[in-house]
Amino acid sequence: MDNLKELQDKIGYKYTFDCVQCGYCLPACPTYDSMGKETHSPRGRINLVKMAAEGKIDLEEIREPIDKCLGCRACQTVCPTGVEYGKILEGAKESLADQQQLSMPQKAAKSFIFNHLFPHRSRMDSFGNLMWFYQASGVQKVVRGLKATKLAPLHLGEFESIMPRVVSPNKRKNRQAVVKAEGKTKTKVAFFTGCIMDSMFYETNQNSIELLRKSGAEVIIPDSQTCCGALHAHAGNVSDAKELAKKNIEAFEKENIDYVINNAGGCGSMLNEYGHLFDGDQEWGERARRFVAKSKDISEILYELNGLTFTREVNDVVTYQPSCHLTNVQKVVDEPLELLKNIPGIEYREMQDHNRCCGSAGIYNIVNYDDSMEILDSKMEKYKPTKATTIVTTNPGCLLQMKMGIKRENLEDRVRAVHLVDLLIEAIENK
Ligand code: SF4
Ligand code: SF4
Repeated sequence: MDNLKELQDKIGYKYTFDCVQCGYCLPACPTYDSMGKETHSPRGRINLVKMAAEGKIDLEEIREPIDKCLGCRACQTVCPTGVEYGKILEGAKESLADQQQLSMPQKAAKSFIFNHLFPHRSRMDSFGNLMWFYQASGVQKVVRGLKATKLAPLHLGEFESIMPRVVSPNKRKNRQAVVKAEGKTKTKVAFFTGCIMDSMFYETNQNSIELLRKSGAEVIIPDSQTCCGALHAHAGNVSDAKELAKKNIEAFEKENIDYVINNAGGCGSMLNEYGHLFDGDQEWGERARRFVAKSKDISEILYELNGLTFTREVNDVVTYQPSCHLTNVQKVVDEPLELLKNIPGIEYREMQDHNRCCGSAGIYNIVNYDDSMEILDSKMEKYKPTKATTIVTTNPGCLLQMKMGIKRENLEDRVRAVHLVDLLIEAIENK
């Protein structure tokens, strides 16, 4: 980039001055722990960004350390001077994306996923239906029998083996746009369905709506909502993330509601960052801040409403792997645990370093597979002493990563990974 001033504005240069180089963040950083290099620590990455912004090193030199950052924001939580690492990271990713030379097939794949798939609910539904057909028709069995998944690039065969069971198109068709509260209406909320959540984890979304209903919330599911834009922003594609944010703000501000509820830590943190996305934009900044003020994770509202009546014991030893974004960005820490501990029959055992990232981090586990698996293996070492038979998570990426950990440890016949809302519903319904 020729214009240094332009780079400094984009890369978040001004935020780098808040770092006093104390190093308190180093022990919290999973990549510093696993890679053991200063350049792969928060402090090192901030220094590299500063040097690139000052023209002391080429921007390209920061690509690998930035690509290897999980974006878990654990460094931000422990930083005594409040360095806004997320803004520095996002600026670095956007600057790197601007100057990245992609081949034609890479450009086409990126455009297909980011522009022609995730933002379109009907296409994500079709994707879910395709996955259902793949599983229900027997094709999956044949593919697995022939060990064809081993031929898939980017270890996608590994991820295929932990894919959740997808619901049928018929079930998907029957969702109501408005679900009335059970008993007295205590609040009116709109539910953010997410793109991957709704196509691959539709049942978890339906269970979320059911828990809200049983807690006394009327639930509206706005039809014009779209993908939150997290994957776009994390890939440095901030302009597309902004377009998606605008669509969501418009979709939800039409509704007369108290809260916008989501059940995925990664999406929720993106929704909570819409205000920052429109910094300096008078019109959208204000609308985004109003949206953010209403945005809540499902655990917060369920805890607040305190309306769940458990009818069944879930006799299980449980541990909890929190979503980094729920913890470090949304600062939702106690509510999921309190809900979990209230389930009758649960024996809760805390995992050592449970707040440390599991290595999922959006698509980090796909694009940085080996690094991600090293972080996951160390997470599983911390899990083992708990001997828990259920690992609870609050984000789809973490859920799949924990399933992967269970598989890597050959524990599939004894241990399961579930979303918190799916465990809560087990204690309510007679399944
Ligand atoms: S990011 Fe914060 S904790 Fe880390 S070195 Fe800088 S000031 Fe210290
Ligand atoms: S976001 Fe996570 S991986 Fe990245 S520097 Fe901070 S602690 Fe390390």
